[in-house]
Amino acid sequence: MEQRYDIIVAGSGISGSLAAASAAKNGAKVLLLDRNSEEEPGKKTNWGWVCGDAVAKSHIEFAQKELGVSFGEPELNLPVKGVVALSPNLKNRIQFDGEGYVLDRPKFAKKLRDLAIKFGAEYVSGHEVEGPIVENDKVIGVFGKHGNNETFKVYANLVIDSLGIASVLRRRLPANDYIQKDISTDDIESTGRYIVDFKAAKEDTSYYDREFALIHLNQQLAPGGYGWVFPKKGMKVNVGIGIEKHSLELRNSKMGLNDTLHSLIDKYVEWNPVLKEISMDNEHNNAKGYWSVTVRRQLPSLVYENYLGTGDSMAMPNPISAGGIGPAIISGILAGQTASKAVANKNTSIDSLWEYNLNFNKAYGSKMAGLEVFRIFLQSMNNDRIDYGMEHFITKDEAVELSYGNVPELSLASAFTKLLSGVQNISAFKDLMYAVGKMKKLNEIYGKYPADKSALPAWRAIVDAEMKDAKERFKVNPI
Ligand SMILES: Cc1cc2nc3c(=O)[nH]c(=O)nc-3n(C[C@H](O)[C@H](O)[C@H](O)COP(=O)(O)OP(=O)(O)OC[C@H]3O[C@@H](n4cnc5c(N)ncnc54)[C@H](O)[C@@H]3O)c2cc1C
Repeated sequence: MEQRYDIIVAGSGISGSLAAASAAKNGAKVLLLDRNSEEEPGKKTNWGWVCGDAVAKSHIEFAQKELGVSFGEPELNLPVKGVVALSPNLKNRIQFDGEGYVLDRPKFAKKLRDLAIKFGAEYVSGHEVEGPIVENDKVIGVFGKHGNNETFKVYANLVIDSLGIASVLRRRLPANDYIQKDISTDDIESTGRYIVDFKAAKEDTSYYDREFALIHLNQQLAPGGYGWVFPKKGMKVNVGIGIEKHSLELRNSKMGLNDTLHSLIDKYVEWNPVLKEISMDNEHNNAKGYWSVTVRRQLPSLVYENYLGTGDSMAMPNPISAGGIGPAIISGILAGQTASKAVANKNTSIDSLWEYNLNFNKAYGSKMAGLEVFRIFLQSMNNDRIDYGMEHFITKDEAVELSYGNVPELSLASAFTKLLSGVQNISAFKDLMYAVGKMKKLNEIYGKYPADKSALPAWRAIVDAEMKDAKERFKVNPI
């Protein structure tokens, strides 16, 4: 490793490897750093590559188009026709997200790391980043430890933070008006998943579907989140749950139980009447893992002086689905493009990097604040309300639109007339109308994302006020 580069990319997960690949492809001298061993790029924690591993085909195609590369087996483990969300009583199925894949995540991560190397990035494993090197409030490099506890320092014109949700770079930036350093625990899901072999005790596509990635909305099984059964090649699934801490506490106290994330995953697997005779698939030591994922809008700005962030380090996963692979792909590639251009122009200031905020907002981010409101709304409903709402309030098409963050206002209003007979549900319907109205407003606000940094504080205050309003209206209420 040399002393100085154009760009340091910290973290060789999905977003980091793609940022390094795209920056190197555009001619920058790039260092890609990760704490993992060379054989295990993208491993998130000691627990492994903890993820549901489902990604939309459109996101894979984005990477193929932008980088001129192709993906196939073995990293794309199984094609699926879409994601299906089931109501708690399993009577309503909503299909969204179109075709996609369930990935072999360790192989996908290796493929991306190898692409970064192929495009000319220098990859260095076994280096734990401990923080940014800062001079005059500007990031000028990173420091950390490697080998036998030896310290290292390395310098660059620009640092790309791809360290994931717990990023030490983001959290150790100087105080500033742009990058939000801390993320509220209310906006984080605790998650865990198993990769298992099983025998199908019976056929029932409400519990296991070879062609679809299934999501179970159920506030008793997965308070404040959901459970998932994503098929893999052969008789194998990626099965897990995400939960929200306060919802779990409330659910436990109301039900007189003492469940934890760990006990709930076991109960969820047991609940499933199809998945029987299960055994852990321990390839890559990756069978069982626990980690966290954010379910909020991306951070207000993704850039600072000589610094930009990608993927989970900037809270990019979708607030409803917790899908973060797509935005990690998009942000990594866009960040690499902006970064290489800024370096070539010898200007890596916030102003010069601002186009990345605009590009990410346009390509992916603009609906996330609206979806955050919808997530908060969903967390305020018990199973009966979710069942009733999915049955009566919205059509399947409207539900799909909502899951994308779009607002099907007119037909929702007409549904209101159908509902007048069920007086007790009018308040629930009003809540839905409020959530949908708020989503629309936030979509409009994000449509006017600040064109430059001077407008950020005022814009951010407007967004924060809207979100505060929604959080005050909807309190978690799982049971
Ligand atoms: C249980 C679970 C299920 C999920 N399911 C899905 C799903 O089905 N579909 C989907 O789209 N998304 C899913 N997500 C989200 C998705 O996994 C993430 O959004 C995605 O991994 C983000 O990629 P990233 O490259 O930004 O960060 P990461 O994948 O977290 O990569 C960060 C990299 O940085 C390295 N690193 C971290 N700290 C340091 C340090 N200090 N020094 C050096 N290196 C460091 C890590 O080792 C890792 O290699 C899920 C998440 C969880 C937790």
